[in-house]
Amino acid sequence: MRNYKDITIWKDVPEEKWNDWHWQLANRLTSVEQLKNIINMTPDEEKGIRDCLMNLRMAITPHYATLMDPNNPKCSVRLQAIPTEAELIRDSDDLDDPTFEDIDSPAKHLTHRYPDRVLLLTTDQCAMYCRHCTRRRLVGTNDAAYGPEELEPAFQYIEKTTEIRDVVISGGDPLTLSTERLEQILKRLRSIPHIDIMRIGSRVPVVMPQRITDELCRMIKKYHPIFINTHFNSPKEMTKESAGALAKLANAGIPLGNQSVLLKGINDCPNIMKRLVQALVKNRVRPYYLY
Ligand code: SF4
Repeated sequence: MRNYKDITIWKDVPEEKWNDWHWQLANRLTSVEQLKNIINMTPDEEKGIRDCLMNLRMAITPHYATLMDPNNPKCSVRLQAIPTEAELIRDSDDLDDPTFEDIDSPAKHLTHRYPDRVLLLTTDQCAMYCRHCTRRRLVGTNDAAYGPEELEPAFQYIEKTTEIRDVVISGGDPLTLSTERLEQILKRLRSIPHIDIMRIGSRVPVVMPQRITDELCRMIKKYHPIFINTHFNSPKEMTKESAGALAKLANAGIPLGNQSVLLKGINDCPNIMKRLVQALVKNRVRPYYLY
């Protein structure tokens, strides 16, 4: 990980700002010109990014960008964050909705497939747009949260369907919501008597750990039992900032799990996977899924 002060465009950013998640979100890298200040790109890479950006989103938090190897296009962090020409290849077997979330949707932003659990999408914004995302048909469209009226039909469906006891809160990334908006959602769900547990899926502890504030943890604690599943794919992502964010969440009594995606050239190696799961366990995160 590079010291951000060694990167010219950020050398004058005070630590207070760097550690503020609002600043991280507002200063995401979204263009080739910005990225050129951080890494050295080959002409082919540059063309790939420009072509992809005509149709696909790129947004990389400054925190995540400091993990990139500036001289190695095969760096595991670069591969997860920077678009390549290969993303534009479309096979006849490719699907926009590969996990069929839309087919099983009884209300807008809600998927109900298994009897006792639902998936609730609360925003289309993510801190970073991952190249391997299975929900890229949705994420980043408006880069914004869904408002209370927009989610109300989903809440009403959950309310009237008494077999549901578990709500997976996802997006986009629900931890990009303001603390107030996230609290509205948790409160609304907690007011439904048959909801036992809520599970938040988030990549924020990896790509924008500054978001995990004491205020956020105090708020979440009020609505227990709440679980959080993070999304670490590489041991390189376990920085001291991410470790600090995980400690705050664990200290707030939130059981933590990790959902990894098996990614070619990133973690498809038993030694890398071993280092990843050991780093997770050391930080009180249970390796939970490998997609
Ligand atoms: S954080 Fe999750 S939803 Fe957002 S782009 Fe990455 S994989 Fe997709």
